Amino acid sequence: MLREELEEILEAVWVSNEYRKPGLEEIKKNCPVEIADQDLLTLQQEGLIHRQDNDIHLTEAGKVIAAGLVRRHRLAEVLLSSILQLRNSDMEEVACKVEHCLQPEVEESICTLLGHPEVCPDGKPIPRGRCCTKGLTVVDRAVVSLSELKAGERGKITYIKPITHSNFHQLISFGLHPGVVLTVHRNSPTICIKFGNTELALADEIAANIFVWRLHPEDHP
Ligand SMILES: [Zn+2]
Ligand SMILES: [Zn+2]
Ligand SMILES: [Zn+2]
Repeated sequence: MLREELEEILEAVWVSNEYRKPGLEEIKKNCPVEIADQDLLTLQQEGLIHRQDNDIHLTEAGKVIAAGLVRRHRLAEVLLSSILQLRNSDMEEVACKVEHCLQPEVEESICTLLGHPEVCPDGKPIPRGRCCTKGLTVVDRAVVSLSELKAGERGKITYIKPITHSNFHQLISFGLHPGVVLTVHRNSPTICIKFGNTELALADEIAANIFVWRLHPEDHP
């Protein structure tokens, strides 16, 4: 995982290259954060960009990361403008936040929900995702309660509804928090889950209040 600032720089390099203006000045104009020499050096050392005189290009590895960021940014723009109807200036700022934290499976659902849009509200192309090439029409991933998962199924925790304050904190102290991927080991008589090296039996009412994204076998965590 790159720092957010470095992600913004990669994104700016992508955008500048889209306009065929890969010069550092142009990249700085397209970047919402200050670009330090050290940041460019780090990206170079990570093998994500290469410099040629004053021009900066993405390497193949850099393109993969930047395409994902640009995709999430522009999908967020479509979502924010069409569904939430945010104004332009707010939209840009929120989209920039969303791109760093949108989980891949949520990204696919949003893209599918929006009908795999090809351009963002200002007409720039949205890099294609796996869902677009597969032509998914139905959002088949949804948030379900943990108690709906069958034995062998996996889910990623999206939120935990606290029933009582103390058991909420107890779950957190076990390491169960949003983002954790768990597997249901068995679901009767009580639900038993595994995550990392931990195995935990949960009372029914607690399992019912933990919500997860149902993951498919081909999803990597
Ligand atoms: Zn951004
Ligand atoms: Zn846009
Ligand atoms: Zn799609």
